[in-house]
Amino acid sequence: MNEELKCIGCGATIQTTDKEKLGYTPKSALEKGLEVGEVYCQRCFRLRHYNDIQDISLTDDDFLRLLNSIAEKDALIVNVIDIFDFNGSLIPGLHRFVGNNPVLLVGNKVDILPKSLKRGKLTQWLRERAHEAGLRPVDVVLLSGKKISEMASLMEMIEKHRHGKDVYVVGVTNVGKSTIINGIIKATAGLQEVITTSQFPGTTLDKIEIPLDDGHFLIDTPGIIHQHQMAHYLGKKDLKITSPSKEIKPKTYQLNEGQTLFLGGLARMDYLQGEKNSFTVYVSNELDVHRTKAQGADDFYQKHVGGLLVPPQKEEIPEFPEFTRREFSVDKNTDIVFSGLGWISVREKAVIAAYAPKGVEVVIRKALI
Ligand code: GDP
Repeated sequence: MNEELKCIGCGATIQTTDKEKLGYTPKSALEKGLEVGEVYCQRCFRLRHYNDIQDISLTDDDFLRLLNSIAEKDALIVNVIDIFDFNGSLIPGLHRFVGNNPVLLVGNKVDILPKSLKRGKLTQWLRERAHEAGLRPVDVVLLSGKKISEMASLMEMIEKHRHGKDVYVVGVTNVGKSTIINGIIKATAGLQEVITTSQFPGTTLDKIEIPLDDGHFLIDTPGIIHQHQMAHYLGKKDLKITSPSKEIKPKTYQLNEGQTLFLGGLARMDYLQGEKNSFTVYVSNELDVHRTKAQGADDFYQKHVGGLLVPPQKEEIPEFPEFTRREFSVDKNTDIVFSGLGWISVREKAVIAAYAPKGVEVVIRKALI
């Protein structure tokens, strides 16, 4: 086989011999990949097509070494996050790993959020959340990686802050890092042929290097897997429904105590205590929201999951994790965030119960909108 073949997802050298090692792809899949001109390692293939992630996790020595090796560099760190899934985008402990290096925060998928949301407010909000996570970005850039036209201003921003140094692009999977890297490559036309790959010292992880015009490089690192994203439990069909592809249309519900909202069959919120209150749901337009009485909501779910309440699809129900219930007492203008799915914004003080599949994070934050 071709020694130089790299996975187009993570940059690992493709190999067909060791299932446990990076870059493994079954021979048959490799042949198919070569036919269509898209070779993925098995891990990236599964990630893309089934979101079936098993092997490499955040605690893996390789990833820790990768992050540590970045700390030792004198470089600009570009951290790509998904604005729609801020919590799911965070690399735990990143601030410790970047050392004294400046961090440029890139908030991707800005096209998904309502246009009425002012960019200045969003930038400020991202800055505050970054500070809470211990990161002090030198700048915050909002963009849509799908728009090639926005790559020029991203590159300008990178030039402004890299001060003649290398640039490391880091991010968890699914934030759109590859889309942005591909966009940069397209925008800096002609560079395709000179992209090289090399390994992080002491790891089995490959990196993709794009030359900059002064002998330095823009280095794309392998995507880091975040454990608590909803996406890990969903099939391809489900992801089509839950991943917003265009501007979200918020849906507002006036609820009384004792009422319940279902977000498809993936999450549930009970309004336990408070005055008549306004709840605005920010999820993909394709995901149906259902209102019902809290009393009887369990039966409603059992009866309708996989039917009226999708995803999960009927055939996925046996494998789908059970709901975990958590109660929150929230102040006015608070978001209840279901990692990777979206959030419900509560107008006034309330006591609520949030249900999400076991393993999926639910967090409370100051309202974004
Ligand atoms: P990576 O795992 O971080 O490399 O992420 P990908 O580049 O594979 O993107 C993950 C998903 O997000 C894909 O379905 C992309 O189409 C989508 N995506 C990437 N950038 C954008 C964007 O700017 N807007 C929207 N709406 N979707 C995006």
